[in-house]
Amino acid sequence: MQALVLEEKGVLALRDIDLPLSVGPEDVKIAVHTVGVCGSDVHYYTHGAIGAYVVQAPMVLGHEAAGTVVAVGENVRSLSVGDRVCMEPGIPDLSSRAAKLGLYNVDPAVRFWATPPVHGVLAPYAVHPAAFTYRLPDNVSFAEGAMVEPFAIGMQAATRARIVPGDVAAVIGAGPIGIMVALAALAGGCSRVFISDFSAEKLAIAAAYPGIEPVNVGKTPFAAAVAAATGGWGADVVFEASGSAKAFEGLFDLVRPGGAVVLVGLPVDAVRFDVPGAISKEVRVETVFRYANVFDRALELIASGKVDLKPLITGTYAFGESVAAFERAAEARPTDVKLQIRVQEEN
Ligand SMILES: [Zn+2]
Repeated sequence: MQALVLEEKGVLALRDIDLPLSVGPEDVKIAVHTVGVCGSDVHYYTHGAIGAYVVQAPMVLGHEAAGTVVAVGENVRSLSVGDRVCMEPGIPDLSSRAAKLGLYNVDPAVRFWATPPVHGVLAPYAVHPAAFTYRLPDNVSFAEGAMVEPFAIGMQAATRARIVPGDVAAVIGAGPIGIMVALAALAGGCSRVFISDFSAEKLAIAAAYPGIEPVNVGKTPFAAAVAAATGGWGADVVFEASGSAKAFEGLFDLVRPGGAVVLVGLPVDAVRFDVPGAISKEVRVETVFRYANVFDRALELIASGKVDLKPLITGTYAFGESVAAFERAAEARPTDVKLQIRVQEEN
């Protein structure tokens, strides 16, 4: 089967590779329609590793996927052949202690698509547990279905924040994940969401959504802008979505006394964490690692029209152009939010 294979750092090939496609009793087989190009896929391509995860053997990329069920295992009752679906790419051990607590995203044994040594789904077919495969509502396209995975991180962040109606939020970083977080925060009941970046282009894309207010931190410090908008009180919830060590300086200046700071971005190096700043305001600090139990709610928000992810799909490539799609993504143009690959047009 043809697949987009990362041979080693910097070397991609669309080539034949043997992938296991036997359908277990709890599995479904999916004809893959659309796969989004994620920052993590690009990082494996350009750097060959993310932290402790190192590409040591050829690996198929891609984990943001939607398609059509073409076969179901003998025990599967929730899905049928022909169902349009999207897939949650982390496969936990359902009998693990973490999974039993509902924290399956932090099961140490989780197998996550396109995280070494697990293959991703930039290939015409994939086999996946039915339990982590979600039917798309009729009015949700395959392209939107492939956006559920990145949006799920925003959903997890908003869930961890425990937003209450009318909260003011501040999101650091207007990259794809920052925008997903801002949209989930609005959907979760925030009245205003401020978002910061140095890139006017990224801010313009975020600010096209009503309720999202851009702050160019090349011109105005974020904490000053949030203070001015809140009478000096601060944001109820602050989301760190840049992963930049610099963002941790003055992080707690943004948040109100008793507010929450949610860490979403993953810094590459150790960062300075202002413990006195957090303690003096009794800040609740939350962390986000991928997501758990959010795909159904994400799909409800998209189907209801409360969240529109379509404007964030800024480029679509044919499967045969997969390498070009990754080369483009590696350029990290500020106007490119999400590039997608159409693996199979008809299925
Ligand atoms: Zn992703």
